[in-house]
Amino acid sequence: MLKVGINGYGTIGRRVAHAVLKQDDMKLVGVAKTKPDFKAFDAVNKGIPIYCSVPGNEKLFKEVGMELAGSLDDLLSEIDLVVDGAPSKMGVENKALYEKYGLKMIFQGGEKASTADVSFNAQANYEDAIGKNSVRVVSCNTTGLARTISTIRELSDTGKIRVVLVRRAADPAQSGKGPINAIKPTPEMPSHHGPDLKTVIPSIDIMSIAFVVPTTLMHSHAIMVELKNKLDREQVIDAFRANPRVRVLRVKDGFKTTAEIMEYAKDLGRDMGDLYEIAVWDECLNTSDDGKELYYMQAVHQESDVVPENIDCIRALGGIETDKKKSMEKTNKALNIGVGR
Ligand code: NAD
Repeated sequence: MLKVGINGYGTIGRRVAHAVLKQDDMKLVGVAKTKPDFKAFDAVNKGIPIYCSVPGNEKLFKEVGMELAGSLDDLLSEIDLVVDGAPSKMGVENKALYEKYGLKMIFQGGEKASTADVSFNAQANYEDAIGKNSVRVVSCNTTGLARTISTIRELSDTGKIRVVLVRRAADPAQSGKGPINAIKPTPEMPSHHGPDLKTVIPSIDIMSIAFVVPTTLMHSHAIMVELKNKLDREQVIDAFRANPRVRVLRVKDGFKTTAEIMEYAKDLGRDMGDLYEIAVWDECLNTSDDGKELYYMQAVHQESDVVPENIDCIRALGGIETDKKKSMEKTNKALNIGVGR
């Protein structure tokens, strides 16, 4: 069984760790933590071995009576594949250490594309990860765009795609980030999000601009797509409904904002109240009268949409499964994705 270790047990790292525990074809050997904070308590409660990633910090764990399984080097020497969950731009600094142990490596979307051999989204380019040494799972926003735009491109080739992103200011546990009472334009044209999609769908013509707004509850995207073939609204809605990793929700059922969507996610009973699927508002999707343009709005649970992608990436990169459909179905089943109304 493929032995997996996770370096960094923060927002993404711990969700991926919990998801690995739910798979029957990979084993979580342990997680590396910098310090014995409440997230370390969570690992202890779940029976996950903890390794100390900062030499000298072992005494901090000892002070709170937390048992360590070893150092980060110990963890890396016991595994086949490492998932880097370190903060943005720190993964690249960890790479040389992972290479020293001859590991397969997964980095997250906060790293530059050049950090890894290839960027990854399961639906868009699963096969590209097979046989590689390192992969970057694209960011939460790029994952959201990749899921729905890949689905549309299975119905019709696309021309220009234009996206306006409304980004959450912080994750719920990030008490120090903002803005808390202002709308902040992202001063880059295009914003990096759209062009980042080209790392997994190279042939796409996309441009994006972005705002940051005071919320912790999801990113939202307004997306406009030129279609090469005529499509009507129902064809697109049906295709989104048929994709387990996309969830079509109706305003008239009470999904007026991202707040109701995240409340509903809690009812689904997933790990940490997560919503792995990309939510598309039914009433906020339409085509032009000539069927050559599509407009829609979607919301992305930034903390969790990349989690199933990391699991599929482990299978592709770790040589467990070459069939994308089989991997995605297995991941969906283990994480309860696409079930429930
Ligand atoms: P985070 O700050 O929540 O967690 C990072 C963890 O790594 C913390 O526990 C921290 O203590 C630990 N750490 C610090 N320095 C480290 C080092 N040198 N080596 C290993 N671990 C270290 O960060 P996050 O939000 O989980 O982001 C991780 C990666 O995932 C980033 O690349 C980020 O861009 C990407 N990502 C984040 C989100 C999101 O919404 N939070 C979504 C998708 C992708």
